[in-house]
Amino acid sequence: MSAPRSLVAHREWTLEPNSEPDAEPITYAMQCAVCNETSEAGVEWSVPQSWTLEHSGRNPSHHTYREIITRPWRTWMHS
Ligand SMILES: [Zn+2]
Repeated sequence: MSAPRSLVAHREWTLEPNSEPDAEPITYAMQCAVCNETSEAGVEWSVPQSWTLEHSGRNPSHHTYREIITRPWRTWMHS
């Protein structure tokens, strides 16, 4: 007895960080872990860094932060 054969399209998807020229930029933001206020996201680290130091300056009891990194990814299919 032979098994029925059928044509099946085997497609495999790959996921990887998007380094294409048209990829969105990686951005960095900081969030205060005490009050959850969040900086603007910037391509340059200096943007959230300045915000963090100013935030601690305005709120001297806020000492802990979360870094939020937004990284573009892409999927692509190969057959
Ligand atoms: Zn805060």
